[in-house]
Amino acid sequence: MEAFKMTPPEWTESAGHAVQFCCPKCGASSLEAQEVWINRRSPVYTENHRRKWQEFYLCQCDYPWWAWSSDRPPSKYASSAIDPFSEDDEDIDTF
Ligand SMILES: [Zn+2]
Repeated sequence: MEAFKMTPPEWTESAGHAVQFCCPKCGASSLEAQEVWINRRSPVYTENHRRKWQEFYLCQCDYPWWAWSSDRPPSKYASSAIDPFSEDDEDIDTF
């Protein structure tokens, strides 16, 4: 599992910030990425005192992008939070 290595993979250096939690280029979701790397070394505290960190994804279209873990839409494994963006997911995928 590469995702939790301490050293960032080379492809993260050119990653672009994705405001929506999906590939800014082709709109594919993070679940479809071919590589993942999570920057757990430098978490940031949000105004709600919750931790967030950068999650890097190498998309299936070879575009590297990153987004804050706090921006990730809730999954079926974390359904406690109501995410205002979750209803938009289907629209994003059709880009
Ligand atoms: Zn893509």
